[in-house]
Amino acid sequence: MFVNLEQATTLIIERATRLVSLLVEDRGHDKPPFLPEEYARLAGIKRIEKADLGHDRADAGAVLLRFRDGYVIKANQNQNLARQRFSCAHEIGHILLGELELEPLMEDVEFQTFNPQSQAKDRQSPRERLCDAAATELLMPESVFKKYLSGFDVSIKSLEQLANIFKVSVQSAAIRIAELNVQPCLALKWRSQTGTKSKSLRLAWCVPPGGKSRVKANYMPVHTIAGHTSALYKAYQSENYVKSSKLFRLGTVTRRCPMESKGFGREETRYVISLALLGK
Ligand SMILES: [Zn+2]
Repeated sequence: MFVNLEQATTLIIERATRLVSLLVEDRGHDKPPFLPEEYARLAGIKRIEKADLGHDRADAGAVLLRFRDGYVIKANQNQNLARQRFSCAHEIGHILLGELELEPLMEDVEFQTFNPQSQAKDRQSPRERLCDAAATELLMPESVFKKYLSGFDVSIKSLEQLANIFKVSVQSAAIRIAELNVQPCLALKWRSQTGTKSKSLRLAWCVPPGGKSRVKANYMPVHTIAGHTSALYKAYQSENYVKSSKLFRLGTVTRRCPMESKGFGREETRYVISLALLGK
């Protein structure tokens, strides 16, 4: 018997949801944020500490250490808090994945499912993607996030509010909105193009309605580069909310959809997040 990635995703999210329920029961309410430290004891973690992970692991968000009497998570203190939280939740995902004992059943997934031509995020190993799915559910539990989402219109402003309420990055919240919003919407990230003379932005990722792991249809903007005169570039250069519209390829049809964008971060890490509503 083998499990495919979709089945494995369902299983690990179920496991994460169970941990969320335990926490809600334990603390007596389901109000966000849901922080990794709160899950620690329930997941057999002795402590979560902040550490300098050293030069070799400067890019790592966190590491999971296993001891006889429990786990220790070391979060990279040089990363911002939202990233540290997501990384710690991701490590809890590794614990849940271990408990599921799925890995012997999914050995062949790594080789079959992924197209080497696809974007970097798709190339990540299935194991890492499963732990990200668990982390997302732990920090932004579906039932709770949906409740908050139903009280907001989809906009960059509500995205910022949700990121703040759940204490996650704007990027993680944008992906979650695309995954869970009732009215279909897309979340996109744009980054400055490096190594070219002309100033422009390039699409870094695009999350379709329902999320990447669920939707087979190929939903993408027709143009994945935005020039220096575009509305997107205006968002990159200012601190304003910028409304525009964009052509999207939605499976077999092409349609123009309203989009709102804003720039975040500074200098070389600056990026633009867009939310596009697909309407009917
Ligand atoms: Zn990992």
